[in-house]
Amino acid sequence: MHLQSLGAALTVTGSAHLLTTRGGQVLIDCGMFQGGDELEARNREAFPFDPHDLAAVILTHAHLDHVGRLPLLVRRGYRGPVFCTAPTAALAETVLLDSARLQVEGFRQDLRRARRLGRESEVPEPLYDEEDVHRTLALLRPALRFGEPAHIGPLRVTPGRAGHILGSAYLLIEADGERLILSGDLGNRESGLQLDFTPPPPADAVVIETTYADRTHRSLPATLAEFADALHQSIRAGGKILIPTFAIERAQMILYTLRGLMEAGDVPRIPVFLDSPMAARATHEYFEYGDELIPPVREALRNGEDPFRPSTLHVVPTSAESQRINRYDGPAIILAGNGMMTGGRIQHHLKHNLWKPGTSLVIVSYQSPGSLGGRIVAGADHVRIMGDEVVVRAQVHTIGGFSAHADQDDLLAFLASTGSPRVWLVHGEVGVMDAFLPVLAGHGLTGTVMPDHQPVDLLTTTFPGGRPPGIPESRGDARAGEGGE
Ligand SMILES: [Zn+2]
Repeated sequence: MHLQSLGAALTVTGSAHLLTTRGGQVLIDCGMFQGGDELEARNREAFPFDPHDLAAVILTHAHLDHVGRLPLLVRRGYRGPVFCTAPTAALAETVLLDSARLQVEGFRQDLRRARRLGRESEVPEPLYDEEDVHRTLALLRPALRFGEPAHIGPLRVTPGRAGHILGSAYLLIEADGERLILSGDLGNRESGLQLDFTPPPPADAVVIETTYADRTHRSLPATLAEFADALHQSIRAGGKILIPTFAIERAQMILYTLRGLMEAGDVPRIPVFLDSPMAARATHEYFEYGDELIPPVREALRNGEDPFRPSTLHVVPTSAESQRINRYDGPAIILAGNGMMTGGRIQHHLKHNLWKPGTSLVIVSYQSPGSLGGRIVAGADHVRIMGDEVVVRAQVHTIGGFSAHADQDDLLAFLASTGSPRVWLVHGEVGVMDAFLPVLAGHGLTGTVMPDHQPVDLLTTTFPGGRPPGIPESRGDARAGEGGE
């Protein structure tokens, strides 16, 4: 089998892997590049294949960086099936509709600016619109079930529970007499909501994500204590407490945690605003598929309780009501997207509050270095938000342990049952992968960094030192934040 990584090679976002077998081609994930203009420009690149030639697309999970370019693929001619688990299909609808809305809104905004300069012809079209998304949703085949083999084009595919977000799967792929495991994103085994990943079967090659392959997460109890402590400090500071949250998994995890902390009396019952209609919709799917989650959540749902609803929760439906939160006096927690602060309602909360010394910004997820969040975490004293320069006077707390991603121990545990496969590293910053290579060697495994866009034979291609030629030397500052999608 040959694999060509068209995203999430030498970087964390944009997952898209083209698998070529003797029987045909299948695309695994079709994600969006996120985190700064330079990366996002890559979303417009042509696909280096004819979409009509694909036998199928398979999705590992519904995060935007794994599904976000799918409507673009459809816009460019793909009409075949898109296989995934049922929760992934449900979440993908929410994710893609939101993405189309952002694309179109962004386009209109750029157009307004360009008109004033007489440059409207230079504004690129939105990547896709709602209509493209509806055509895409019609192609979804939510037929994948954990542990049950499925025949997809030239492949026999057995999904396994990845424990990363609701519905997330890794894939055992059998074709041409070879066995490949594609990890998708793997869960943190101390995640608060998801069951652990199931141990994968033996394979000849494993393509594995490496978001946090260079570190060990703080334990869940320590993370909860750190989070409670940050909230106490923030409440003492007296201002708004902003928590930028990704709408899927992180929002539900934070709501679940806040409810637990408030019920136990560990955090005062101050108002909590969920200012993200997308997170509210995603939370609905966590209800629908509650049986997929950890036992305490399942039990609460069975008892008719709402484990994602702190008693002081206000769900904010419209942006007019979102603006009104500015007038609310006193400490309150505001959960708003997006998680890296590059757009969405969090931006107007930042603009109104970041310059006030009483404000607290509690970071609970990954911040890519080029994003607004990444710049704040790196210590910027001024940032530009929605066209305005804003001084950063808020207290910034970074809580790393909420990651929905496997850490180094989790990744090694995942690899432990796969035999002695060739291990290909994707979905990581170069510095992190460089740090992981010797660790793999210490465990008797041959690791290789997946090159960007260059097809590799998963069993025979090698590079000196496990690094494709020409990739930049790793820098120590590869990442600005912690957490991760
Ligand atoms: Zn993910």
